[in-house]
Amino acid sequence: MLDADLLAAAAEATGFMPADEGAALAQAALAAPDGPILEVGSYLGKSTLYLAAAARVRGGKVVTVDHHRGSEEHQPGWEYHDPHLVDPAVGLIDTLPGFRRTIAAAGAEDVVVAVVARAEDVARLWATPLALLFLDGSHTDESAQRDLAGWAPHLTVGGVLAIHDVFADPADGGQAPYRIYRQALDSGTYTELTGQGSLRLLRRDR
Ligand code: SAH
Ligand code: MG
Repeated sequence: MLDADLLAAAAEATGFMPADEGAALAQAALAAPDGPILEVGSYLGKSTLYLAAAARVRGGKVVTVDHHRGSEEHQPGWEYHDPHLVDPAVGLIDTLPGFRRTIAAAGAEDVVVAVVARAEDVARLWATPLALLFLDGSHTDESAQRDLAGWAPHLTVGGVLAIHDVFADPADGGQAPYRIYRQALDSGTYTELTGQGSLRLLRRDR
């Protein structure tokens, strides 16, 4: 059973994770083997709280990596830009204060380990086998490919690769997450588990 308080806090939080997909992500994390859960793309902490709802019960941690400067679509002039997220002192997006408020208000600071950095830099320093890897960072082809190449090798055998915003039809959304999902599946290294909405779940077999 997932932590009900954290699930409720996740559902209330600002972000890009529908409740049914968040719950499916949390259930996958609950069922994953031993080891830390790692998220690429913290944003304001919504999906982080779904993962925390599982980590709280598992007794483990959620590591979440983000430079907190936003993806392409969050920048001024783009579809998902929110001017309130710009730090006027620096002139750049800063989602870290909002992220910290979300995690603190939900009482999840003890299970969430926030890493403020480019995911590709952390991937090169990382050495701990992961129970679940959730890829939800930048959705350009270059970044999505780099996240898969940099992080998937850290997944433990039996661990779960979760990919968000996977749309088979270009009319529904960008294709970069779909392409890394296909690439992972076509590698023959993963078995697909039951996903939800645009969330795909793959178990690493070897
Ligand atoms: N998982 C969140 C949404 C993430 S939005 C949720 O469901 O609530 C994507 C995030 O990826 C943004 O916050 C952006 O800053 C981050 N991001 C983009 N490129 C990145 C990179 N190279 N390294 C780290 N974070 C990155
Ligand atoms: Mg997403």
